[in-house]
Amino acid sequence: MLSKRLETLHPYVPGEQPKDRSYIKLNANENPYPPCKAVSAAIRKVLADNRKKLGLYPDPDSLRLRKAIAGMLNKTGGVLASSSRARKSLPFKITPDMIFCGNGSDEVLSFLFCAFFDSGRPLVLPEFTYSFYPVYCGFYSIPMLKIPLKSDLSIDAEKMTEASIANKSPLIFANPNAPTGIALKRQEVEAMLQKIPENEVCIVDEAYADFSDESCLPLLQNHRNLVVVRTFSKSLSLAGMRLGFAVASPELIQPVFTVKNSFNHFPVDVLAQAAGTAACESYKYYEKNARKIAEERDSFIQFLHEHGWTTTDSKTNFVFAKKEGTSGKSVYEAAKEAGILIRHFDIEGIEDFVRITVGTKKQMEKLKKILLERF
Ligand SMILES: *Cc1c(COP(=O)(O)O)cnc(C)c1O
Repeated sequence: MLSKRLETLHPYVPGEQPKDRSYIKLNANENPYPPCKAVSAAIRKVLADNRKKLGLYPDPDSLRLRKAIAGMLNKTGGVLASSSRARKSLPFKITPDMIFCGNGSDEVLSFLFCAFFDSGRPLVLPEFTYSFYPVYCGFYSIPMLKIPLKSDLSIDAEKMTEASIANKSPLIFANPNAPTGIALKRQEVEAMLQKIPENEVCIVDEAYADFSDESCLPLLQNHRNLVVVRTFSKSLSLAGMRLGFAVASPELIQPVFTVKNSFNHFPVDVLAQAAGTAACESYKYYEKNARKIAEERDSFIQFLHEHGWTTTDSKTNFVFAKKEGTSGKSVYEAAKEAGILIRHFDIEGIEDFVRITVGTKKQMEKLKKILLERF
């Protein structure tokens, strides 16, 4: 009864979503702050104005939402946490025809894999990065060329570039990377783009860029093979709504619509389009939250350093940390016992670490207390 393809699938394993007990969830990099009131008002308005709207198909191409996203990116430069105007200004205007929206960036990534990668040449990616990329490689039968991280756990930009040139290969990586939290500088990504083959796509997944210092969006001006992927799930507090998007030259965005229309004509529903549009228009609220989270992250990292922990230099809304002589699993278990979920990866090379999502000040104080008592 089952297809041959099914045997080759290795599904993604997300952070726990427990139903039995109410934990403080610091294990899925969700935003601790709720969406702004304009978002719930926009959803209520859809329902109040005309219930029939739910009986009609949504705009298949999410045009209003794409205009709102372009507006937000042009105003923020793609980095909500940064308060520097210079960093925020883009050298060109992002237009709606440079944007593709999907049902979460996971779906957007799937469509991008389908549009740009195939079994003909291997995809270059870091050894440790977002674990959905290998899942999609299995799904689409794309061979992988995994490049080890450097000893400080940062992405080895030179080795990635060399591998892409030698194999005429496309590339993908998250920047800042997951689960390490470390970011390549925009200049380093630019140096990669200047060397890799111009006709191979380079996907930079910026799920966490809003918490960092800079985005690669300005590089779209000179690099027609760059695709930047973003999500509403982290910095825009809408993980439950499922919204993500890709930004690239119109020539690269067009084929992604072809994939979408060959798979699911209406991936973004009526309520998600309304909620997403309202969120983009309220970007100032999210700027404040992103700054609060970045500050809380830096003070948590400082706390850990003062108490003998090692961390990476995270530019995200999570901290990747370990303590000499302590296993990642035991930290995970101690936190869970005390009612806080964090993430531990049973993967050789990073098994000593835990990944802790930055929550509210109160949540972080509770976690600090547990860490002080137990480790
Ligand atoms: C969370 C995350 C995503 C997925 O985001 P959704 O929009 O919720 O599907 C994609 N890439 C990276 C690196 C992530 O951390």
